Amino acid sequence: MNTIDLYDAPSKYRNAIRAALKAAGITLPSPGKRVEACGRCGGSGRFGPLVVHNGICFDCGGSGKAQRETPSLRLEGEACDLALATVAAAEAADREAQRVAEEAAAAAEAAQVKAAYAAAIALPGVADAVQVSDRLGRFHADVLRTVLAKGYASDKQLAIIAEGVAGLAKAATAPIGERVTIKGTIVGEYTKRSDYGDTRKVIVATADGWKVALTAGAPDLTKGAVVEVVATLEEGYGGTLNGMRPKGWKVQPAPAPAPVPLTEAQAVEAEERAEDAAIDYAREQGAGVD
Ligand SMILES: [Zn+2]
Repeated sequence: MNTIDLYDAPSKYRNAIRAALKAAGITLPSPGKRVEACGRCGGSGRFGPLVVHNGICFDCGGSGKAQRETPSLRLEGEACDLALATVAAAEAADREAQRVAEEAAAAAEAAQVKAAYAAAIALPGVADAVQVSDRLGRFHADVLRTVLAKGYASDKQLAIIAEGVAGLAKAATAPIGERVTIKGTIVGEYTKRSDYGDTRKVIVATADGWKVALTAGAPDLTKGAVVEVVATLEEGYGGTLNGMRPKGWKVQPAPAPAPVPLTEAQAVEAEERAEDAAIDYAREQGAGVD
């Protein structure tokens, strides 16, 4: 005969079991007490090696029973079957409710994503940027993606997106495939890693508005340097063209950074330090006389 203890059922299902039993006309006796199995030995009464306390569990002294008493109500036969069926049905209902809730949450999220996208696409320049998004550079594409996900944009974000699109348009007007003289300023540098080793690259912004990535052949190619070089233009990535086989670098190194003007406090301090130095010098000279 099947048997379970009502108190072994999850507490949230116990009332459902009681209701089902009542509806079936099954009267339950009042709950009794049961002693839990010992948590340390799992009810065996034995724990650990024989050399320690003869292998007898410390917690229960070998009885296998815990000191704690809990309520108990045995359900047998029909009552047991009904209880198990009730729990199974309740669990199924819970799973279904959870599925429905998850589906609703997913639908709400999808609706939110859709609404954000619709709001973003209406912002100036965003729809145009989406058209060319697969060709945008990573930075511009990231900003565009953020705006599309949020559904709004700051002026700065819109300016960045517009700049990305404009860069692509400019790059499209470049004489791709031709060997040309590239004149401009180095606006960026990076290291391209490959199986053959690292290659230092610089990005030159030209007066025509293109950006060209070139392998840096000369050591004085740093950000801010004004350069001239002959290279073959190839389509690049994110509005930056590739300048292949650069030859004949002419470099005007980056100008030294302009001195930062002193604050008033710094000027006073510098003056005091100069005075102190003059006094020290005078003392040393005097000491020499003595
Ligand atoms: Zn024990």
